[in-house]
Amino acid sequence: MDFFAHALYGATLCSRSGMAGSRQGGGGWQRDPTVWIAALMGIGPDIVSMGGAFTLFVLRGMPGHFFRDFGGVALTIYRCAHSLLFAALLCGLVRRIAPRYFTASLAWPLHILLDAPTHGAGRFQTTLFYPLSGWGLDAIRWWERPEVILGYWLLLPIIWALLSRWRAQRHLVGAATPSNPMTSNKSDMSGRPVRCSRSAD
Ligand SMILES: [Zn+2]
Repeated sequence: MDFFAHALYGATLCSRSGMAGSRQGGGGWQRDPTVWIAALMGIGPDIVSMGGAFTLFVLRGMPGHFFRDFGGVALTIYRCAHSLLFAALLCGLVRRIAPRYFTASLAWPLHILLDAPTHGAGRFQTTLFYPLSGWGLDAIRWWERPEVILGYWLLLPIIWALLSRWRAQRHLVGAATPSNPMTSNKSDMSGRPVRCSRSAD
């Protein structure tokens, strides 16, 4: 999965404004810090492993091919950053020092789980349990499959629409709840008046 999609999937699934906020979340996502932290954690494994190497590559005048020549220490960091073992350590640390951002930090292992079925054997294989094991799925390579890229990008607005609709239903139900004295004289979802069970006093 590409860099931008990782950021958006992290924010969509692991922030309070996103799926992690359940039915109660939403509203003002721009001001929700968990959106930005989840997006950052969502790209964390690639930033940590490739950010420094790519900066050096640019500073040296971009000799050769960045991905073909990617190796050495940077590749070891890539394997560590894409290991569920290191992700568990990181999320455990966040839970201890900043528990309110724990759910947002889960965007890091989410990145790994999304990479695993979209990377094949070879240099960029997702070695889920590195350094204990070098095993990883020999799956499709997303960069060779435009239909896969189209699929995961189309899925995002579908998730947003479903989430928005689910939350809108909450407001409709809330407005029609008879026990709510502020709204008890309003109509229900079908348009019929809602009977108030409280005595008027
Ligand atoms: Zn990655």
